[in-house]
Amino acid sequence: MHTKNKANLRRFFLYLFRWQLSTPILWLVVRKLGAGIGATIIANLIGGAIFFWIDRFIFTSYAIEVWQFKDTGKCDGCGKEENLWRLVKAPNYDKRDTTPIFLCIECSKAKTEKLRTKGIKIRGKSK
Ligand SMILES: [Zn+2]
Repeated sequence: MHTKNKANLRRFFLYLFRWQLSTPILWLVVRKLGAGIGATIIANLIGGAIFFWIDRFIFTSYAIEVWQFKDTGKCDGCGKEENLWRLVKAPNYDKRDTTPIFLCIECSKAKTEKLRTKGIKIRGKSK
């Protein structure tokens, strides 16, 4: 839980920093073309063209991986009573609306490997 909050906080500061990056673009264009509405629109067009890619990177990065954890329960894979994990969300994986499947650490590892070979970007449990 705490590591997830830290990841969100890191992403938030990354985003604030990214907003600051648009400041020099705005400043440069406004200095060259004046502070009129036209210059501001041009500055934002330039900024948008650059930050489209940066934002895409920030919001599809590994930071948005979400895991659910259960202290004890029965593994949906092998039936063992253990700590259970469930991958809810990864950059190109979203199981928020499906019936939850909780797996023990071994089954989860196997499933993660299988998903990785399918091209799902999974970093792993942050512990
Ligand atoms: Zn299992």
